[in-house]
Amino acid sequence: MIHIKTPAEIEEFKVAGSLSKAVLRRAGRMVRPGVTTREIDQVVESFIRLHGAVPGFKGLYGFPASICASVNEEIVHGIPSERVLEDGDIISIDTGATTGGWVGDNAWTFFVGEPSREVKALCEVTLDCLKAGIQQAVPGNHIGDIGHAVQSLAERNGFGVVREYVGHGVGHVMHEDPNVPNFGKKGRGVKLQVGMVIAIEPMITLGSFKNHTLANGWTVVTNDGKPAAHYENTVAITKDGPVILTQDAEGPWCAFQGGE
Ligand code: MG
Repeated sequence: MIHIKTPAEIEEFKVAGSLSKAVLRRAGRMVRPGVTTREIDQVVESFIRLHGAVPGFKGLYGFPASICASVNEEIVHGIPSERVLEDGDIISIDTGATTGGWVGDNAWTFFVGEPSREVKALCEVTLDCLKAGIQQAVPGNHIGDIGHAVQSLAERNGFGVVREYVGHGVGHVMHEDPNVPNFGKKGRGVKLQVGMVIAIEPMITLGSFKNHTLANGWTVVTNDGKPAAHYENTVAITKDGPVILTQDAEGPWCAFQGGE
């Protein structure tokens, strides 16, 4: 069932969205060679609670942390650990805060030091895929228009589109209907209407999109061991077009480069 939000609810939602972006920026500022993903998670959890909010991910389906920290070949749902980030890595951080009854959800792939040129290109194209998907989030379009925009841009650049993990509606809980795949056909799927709020989140691979889950039951990795990138914003569909809810005073995007 799709929950339609009123304009007043969307205004309220912006508080959770703005804090979620601030959380993601806070995480990104810690990204540098030598830091562990657990250190980032601990700072993020404190930051969220300091702001009187609740981590959106911790405990969700039993997930043990406040961020998903997915490094290099890890696509999504990486568990923060003692893993030390190294120069040339990329790390996808997916996080959000729940406050005022609304859940923000956003993700960004940060550079650790200096990744290779092809990995940076993967990240830049994946961000462009997110932007292309958001552009399609207008009333009267269909879910398939978003997926088509993401998929065609990724594949035109020779990259893979993950099929098993998709965007989703967002509201009082992290995952609502409808699913928002990163692949699809124009004009197909649920019709988009004013008041829908969806997380658009392309997961794009340098090589094959084929993947599997590690023995920990969470971390999804590419079968070929090549890196993946992941960018996400929570977006409201309004009569004036898409409005990105996960934005703060600095806007809806982070910097590619981590480090503080
Ligand atoms: Mg999401």
